[in-house]
Amino acid sequence: MTDDRRPVFAANWKMHKGPAATRDYVCEFARLHRPRSDRRVVFFPPAISIEAFHSAAAAADRRDLELGVQDVHTAVDGAHTGAISASMAAEAGATWSLAGHSERRREFGDDDGMVAAKTERILEAGLSPVVCVGETLEERDAGSLRAVLQRQVQTVLARIPAARRGELTWAYEPVWAIGTGRTASPDDASEAHAIVREAVATTAGGDVASAAVILYGGSVKPHNIGELMAASGVDGVLVGGASLDPAEFAAICAGATERER
Ligand code: PEP
Repeated sequence: MTDDRRPVFAANWKMHKGPAATRDYVCEFARLHRPRSDRRVVFFPPAISIEAFHSAAAAADRRDLELGVQDVHTAVDGAHTGAISASMAAEAGATWSLAGHSERRREFGDDDGMVAAKTERILEAGLSPVVCVGETLEERDAGSLRAVLQRQVQTVLARIPAARRGELTWAYEPVWAIGTGRTASPDDASEAHAIVREAVATTAGGDVASAAVILYGGSVKPHNIGELMAASGVDGVLVGGASLDPAEFAAICAGATERER
């Protein structure tokens, strides 16, 4: 079971920032954001910049800035040109990995089974997975929110040994809110997080579900971090566009963490 329930503020840089820009960012962010024991800050740079992030954070003596990769392959190793494995990511200094981001699902055809296999590889390599789930606008409009989230969550959990199901962090990211400037309302986020938690409970049991860390992602900005973090069931955020600017992301990481559950 996850034993660290501190709120998580995670940055997904997508295909932005090579090694030089990563080093500059780490220096600037380390100046703006001081270590805090009441929250975790995790970065997902492109894989090519993992080593630069790791060494820049070490040079700045900032081990509190945690590091992950945006994706890994479903296989342990082999002939998969262009891909990286979970164990390589761990060797390079990552301790987290995303799985199932909606851009992977849309652009690279990652389906629920692949997301489950990736989550399995991530755990086997000793990394912490953040499994992304969320509905498209068409699915929401068709009234399928609950069915989509249940399917996405339960397909992954079915593949993970019972003893390890509590190690998963979830990110609810409505596809219609990613990179669009549209944010789910705090009530929308609470409703969806409750569905994710219920789906975890159905497969993994109530104890795992109540301890599960569930992040919200979708156009999170400094001006809406307070209300999102105050929403019931929201344990942190996964931030794309607004994490690219160190000042903006530092402002988000300074955001409210008082939660009403
Ligand atoms: C994301 O990439 O996971 C994301 C939520 O992006 P944005 O904050 O830009 O909507």
